[in-house]
Amino acid sequence: MNDIPEALRETSISQAKIQSKRRLLMRSILGIGPILILGGAFFMRLVSSPSTTSSSSATSVKLSPAPKSIPVVNPSPEPLENVLGHLEYKQAPISKLKAITSDGRVRLRHNAAEQFIEMQKAARYQGVILTPISGFRTVSEQNYLFFEIQRQRNQNPSERAEVSAPPNYSEHHTGYAVDIGDAKTPATHLSHDFEKTVAFSWLKNNAAKYSFELSFPPDNHQGISYEPWHWRYVGDQESLETFYRARNLQQTSSN
Ligand SMILES: [Zn+2]
Repeated sequence: MNDIPEALRETSISQAKIQSKRRLLMRSILGIGPILILGGAFFMRLVSSPSTTSSSSATSVKLSPAPKSIPVVNPSPEPLENVLGHLEYKQAPISKLKAITSDGRVRLRHNAAEQFIEMQKAARYQGVILTPISGFRTVSEQNYLFFEIQRQRNQNPSERAEVSAPPNYSEHHTGYAVDIGDAKTPATHLSHDFEKTVAFSWLKNNAAKYSFELSFPPDNHQGISYEPWHWRYVGDQESLETFYRARNLQQTSSN
């Protein structure tokens, strides 16, 4: 390099630049070539495909516009979304619900309701009164619970999501989840202190016989704060699929 006079160096460098630009241009043309060929073939297939030709008159064939890009096949169906640890659930059809309180205020899916009533009877027989506080909830009820309480308590969405699911993401939409209290200690309703009640001990020992389980035990994989009062029914095909399919999808999508 040092042997070449400066003026010449400049030109030889700029010539080299031009040449490399040409090479690049040729390479990109060659690179685009197969795409153009593929695109052209795709276009020809569309044109010659019998579905695009009109059967009434062969002379007035309408061409569909050329595709702007080669369509990409979606590799897998969309996984269920999860928002701040919560999984998405569909709202149960109202016709499938059955009341578990005499005023009809708390409702569950038919099988869950029957099993809850059986469980409540068995507990009462042993002197434990299980109070259903909340069962099925519509998306708009959850909307109120989530956003209104968030405002009242000055919480941000992630703080709120630790204690309550955002609308569309509550197990209560399914009609399989129920918040249970101890009628003898209403002060412990929806509080961690429910864990100290006889109702909770009874549930821990007996709920599984009626196909109820805790949704959010301590250190659950969803990262939802421990809710000793929130139980869900998993005693039939539909409820099992609802909860375990959602959970498996969440695990595979987070891997
Ligand atoms: Zn709940």
